[in-house]
Formats: sequence, structure tokens, C-alpha cells
Amino acid sequence: MNTSLTVITGPMFSGKSEELVRHLRRYAIANIPAKVFNHALDIRYGKKKIISHSKESWDSIPIKTGAQILSQITADTKVVVIDEVQFFNEDVIMVISHMLYRNINVIAAGLDTDFRGEPFGPIGSLLCMAEKIIKLKAVCSVCHEWNATRTQRLLNNGEPAPYTDPLIKVGALDSYQARCHSHHDLPEAPFNTILQKK
Ligand code: ADP
Ligand code: MG
Repeated sequence: MNTSLTVITGPMFSGKSEELVRHLRRYAIANIPAKVFNHALDIRYGKKKIISHSKESWDSIPIKTGAQILSQITADTKVVVIDEVQFFNEDVIMVISHMLYRNINVIAAGLDTDFRGEPFGPIGSLLCMAEKIIKLKAVCSVCHEWNATRTQRLLNNGEPAPYTDPLIKVGALDSYQARCHSHHDLPEAPFNTILQKK
């Protein structure tokens, strides 16, 4: 097969991890060795698995930096799978380029936008580099249509998180919902202010 980068993206609950597991099953059937990584920040249900909200799972190696991927790949690695790629810093872009030039196929899944609706970490560059993009939608928690492209952060008190909330809040009791653009609620967003001034 031609070496390629595939990026699976969309909001939370859109099925990115499910899609990764679907790919991994096919590789297993075809006897193609794959190395599977997720970011150690994703501590849902235990660290050593990619797990979807529908409980699909696959064993994975939790890591914190792109460099840790390079130390794990071996001469027979044909595919590298990375979940929650948005949590990595920009170094992961160079690591992925390096693997592609070594004829290792890469499938990376991650959020396209953060709760502010802005590109999340390295995802923008990866989308530009990708040979294939699978962009998924979730069901909006407000209008219940299958059109959600945004991730809504709700504070512990149920209020929508303001734009000024920190991007990553480890251990916070916030919750997240998938929402369509019309129902994404983002108080204090700079683009709202610009519109109000006109
Ligand atoms: P992601 O990795 O994109 O967060 P997952 O693969 O973990 O998504 O989960 C997708 C699954 O989440 C769906 O198959 C469905 O069972 C469940 N789910 C829960 N809430 C929603 C929603 N609002 N829209 C779509 N699927 C949802
Ligand atoms: Mg996921």
C-alpha cells in the first residue's frame, strides 16, 4: 500500500475512537502489525486502551510526547495509530513526517476544535498534511440532529464555559456535550464582541 497519513477528526462523541478500532480490526485480519498509542492525559476507564463512548476498545500504549512513539517502533511496524492527537505538542508533527518518510502509515484521531471552536494543538497542520481526512459529526445534545461539529464545555454548575476558561483543566468537574454550530454556547467569545460593536 502507498504510505499515507489519515486523520480522523470531529467533535467529542462523533465516533473517532470507534473508527480507529474499526481500522485496527481490519489490520489485525490482514496481519498488518500496528503500534497503537494514546495520550496519557486521556485517563478515561484506565490508561492502557483506546476506549470509545460505546465501549469499543483496543490495547494501546499511553505516552506524553511524540518522541516516545519513535522509541517504540520497530523494523516490522507498518502502521502507527495515535488517538487524542490534539493533546500532543507540535513535535508530533515532525515525528509523524519522519514515520511517513520511513514508509510507516499513520492514522491519527483527535478533536478538530477545542471548546472555544478553535483548532486544537497540532491538528490543523496534520489536516493539511493528510492524504485522507475522515471528518465525523455527532448528535447535537440540544436539537438532536446528527449535525454536531462543536464540543460544548459545561461548568460544574451547568453553565456554558466562557471563552476565557483555560484550555486544559486537569481534574476539573466540567462536562462536555456535542453541539451543532447554532447551539454552541460560548460566552465572552471575541467574535461575539466584534458583532455587538457593529
Ligand atoms: P469520540 O472518540 O469521537 O469521542 P467515540 O468513538 O468515543 O467518539 O464514541 C462514539 C459513540 O458515542 C457513539 O457510537 C455513541 O454510542 C456514543 N454517543 C454518546 N453521545 C453521542 C452523541 N451526542 N452523538 C453521537 N454519538 C454519541
Ligand atoms: Mg475518542
